[in-house]
Amino acid sequence: MGGAKSARATGGGRVPAGARDARAPIGEFELIRRFFDRGPARRVELGIGDDCALIAPRPGHVLAVSTDMLVCGRHFLADADPRSLGHKALAVNLSDLAAMGAEPLAFTLALALPEPDVHWLEEFSAGLFALADRHRCELVGGDTTAGPLNLSITVFGELPAGVALRRDRAEPGDDLWVSGEIGGGALALGRRLAGRPLAPDDPSAVRLDRPEPRIALGVALRHLARSAIDLSDGLIGDLGHICERSRVGAEVALAELPLAAAFGPPPHGRDTLRDVLSGGDDYELLFSAAPENRAAIAALGGSLRLALTRIGTIVAGEGIRLLDARGTQVPIDARGFDHFA
Ligand code: ADP
Ligand code: MG
Repeated sequence: MGGAKSARATGGGRVPAGARDARAPIGEFELIRRFFDRGPARRVELGIGDDCALIAPRPGHVLAVSTDMLVCGRHFLADADPRSLGHKALAVNLSDLAAMGAEPLAFTLALALPEPDVHWLEEFSAGLFALADRHRCELVGGDTTAGPLNLSITVFGELPAGVALRRDRAEPGDDLWVSGEIGGGALALGRRLAGRPLAPDDPSAVRLDRPEPRIALGVALRHLARSAIDLSDGLIGDLGHICERSRVGAEVALAELPLAAAFGPPPHGRDTLRDVLSGGDDYELLFSAAPENRAAIAALGGSLRLALTRIGTIVAGEGIRLLDARGTQVPIDARGFDHFA
């Protein structure tokens, strides 16, 4: 795994060794050993220390693999709390596993650092491993280089063959459900970008900085849901992905949306609804399920102590219709996040 040897030999793309050492209290390999290598692999055949990690899924199982990158200046600011960054870099990846119904197994970490700041690394790795250990997800390799701060994680999950919660399996007549509350991440991000950040322990700020991947929900939905996606780019955009991949449309009952408590009680104005529907960073699961599973899904929400709310229906055709409490279509110009749009 890791850096191209030709680039390394020519020094291409790397800070010259002399310049790096002058600032660096520790070198690349000591950094890996001290902050990321925690000894022999437990959950996989071979972990950190060789050219590749070796992972063997159990018989009858498949690996679910996903990569998500956090770029400084794009996804977070340079002065972001490193412990939260460690959490979030892994959380957004685990959220993709949750959306497939996979159980976490292992991950790799590609890290570009302007300089090896020991305090930053201590905090970052503490946040990273606190979440990793909670989900028994083991760091099995990666790459470390000097460069503009960039965090890229690839996560490996495992699930029985044939039960993955795919985006292309929604069917007309399915109920549309969402877990937890939505909009908090967008609210906190909007405040931060406007220079009026929320307190770090505000529930919406916690949602933005330390999202909770819904792993247990995803696993429990393997035999209850037909399709699923995690909400990273806003409900409209992410529901749009399910609709496109499944070649269906959807109707969403705006009055049913479980908005974060910070938005106050309904009814909510159109501007609020537009922000919530277009905003990302909630990392809840949006899923479709046959109506006969309603009672089982409601019971599941009770046992997980996680709100599961029915917010609409999958319909034949295409497009997403937003409906008010009387079933009248509401024109709201909401769209999902697109880095290049
Ligand atoms: P290679 O040159 O073969 O790509 P490296 O010298 O980059 O390997 O890395 C040495 C070992 O440390 C490899 O097993 C690699 O997977 C692991 N590693 C490198 N960076 C990290 C990191 N940030 N976190 C975890 N493991 C890492
Ligand atoms: Mg390498």
